[in-house]
Amino acid sequence: MKVRFALLVKPADEGSFRAYCQRRKLSLPKKTLLQQYCILHSKYFSRIVERGQHIDYHSNELVPYQQIHVDGFPKTGSFGRVDKAYAPSQPHTVLARKEIFANYDKSELDKRIQKEVETLKKLDHPHLLRLWGTYTHRRTFFILLQPFANQSLKDILYQKDMVVPGNLLLNWILDLFSALTYLHDQDIIHRDLKPENILVEGDLVYIGDFGLSKISETATDETATVSGTELYKAPEQQSGGHYGRKADVFSMACVVVDLLALGNNISKPHFNQFLAQHGPKTCHRSNHMCFRHNLGVVRFVLSNIEHNNGLGKLCDTVQYDLLQEEPRYRPSALDALKSLQRSLGLRKGFKKLPCCHLDGVTKYEDASVKSLTKKLDALSIKGGVAEGRTESMEEGFQKLLSERGASKTVFSC
Ligand SMILES: [Zn+2]
Ligand SMILES: [Zn+2]
Repeated sequence: MKVRFALLVKPADEGSFRAYCQRRKLSLPKKTLLQQYCILHSKYFSRIVERGQHIDYHSNELVPYQQIHVDGFPKTGSFGRVDKAYAPSQPHTVLARKEIFANYDKSELDKRIQKEVETLKKLDHPHLLRLWGTYTHRRTFFILLQPFANQSLKDILYQKDMVVPGNLLLNWILDLFSALTYLHDQDIIHRDLKPENILVEGDLVYIGDFGLSKISETATDETATVSGTELYKAPEQQSGGHYGRKADVFSMACVVVDLLALGNNISKPHFNQFLAQHGPKTCHRSNHMCFRHNLGVVRFVLSNIEHNNGLGKLCDTVQYDLLQEEPRYRPSALDALKSLQRSLGLRKGFKKLPCCHLDGVTKYEDASVKSLTKKLDALSIKGGVAEGRTESMEEGFQKLLSERGASKTVFSC
């Protein structure tokens, strides 16, 4: 059977199979057979995107990619729709397929997307989603990525009663900063780091959507969810002025705070509430829940959780260095990675999982003097805690810690 169908395969540039048959005056026994053939043809003989390749499918050509059903998918993200897909002729290559929201026009945008895609093709890091390839069909642009991850960090943070082992959470922190260091080395600024853009597959985390946020700026009109992005923005990002790599460091530090909170049994909805309740209530854009306008409360939480679990050094690094309001006092992603790794090295029982090597991060300089100056800087920080509320904040914090029951705390030593 297969051989016969193979003999019938038409060249890809000869239009639809039906039109091809009519033109060649091929007589086929029945319509159903024709349909069967078309299905088989699409499964086994359509062009597939090889690794690193781009294909422009003709509008009447059969695209072999099929959706695999997964609960919660297709998911609509900030710049497009994502589903799980594969080509039957390549059954072991399971891909995340992103459909870019854009009235795809083969001119300016085409060049822009291609340029971004060229950059993405070169990226190779164990904690970044890998670009498999791209294709266009009927004026829509599709990006194929690996691996397919069926949940984001946001799903994990907001999932009720979610417990992630403490050692794994700490590994994620290093892995994320390692991936961010790599991105910055490649001259890519993410600009929109938040739990939604961090994917979790098995035990591993992956930064996703890097560089693509730039495409979406022109391709779509304001599809980004303002509130989600708002919470993790660095102080310098709100003014609409220039910002650089250090903004990513701030946003990633906010993600680290979320992970530390999760490890201390604080669920994200309660944490948000706590920030809104005890902060200065100055930020309507985020319903008073963003990190940058609530740094005082974030510091309170960090200094209180560190006592219980031997994470003092790590919490210090996060609150005094990474969450600096002034970008110039914030460390680079590499320096952040170094300090975090050093802090975790001091923690009894911490074990780096063998998912990646943190290259070049073996030597540390003693940054104690520098960090003392920064600590003094931090003391003068504005925009923190609502005045005269210290006591009730402590009470509120105790409530926050007991919300999910102490038995689930994963950072206890
Ligand atoms: Zn705000
Ligand atoms: Zn790793």
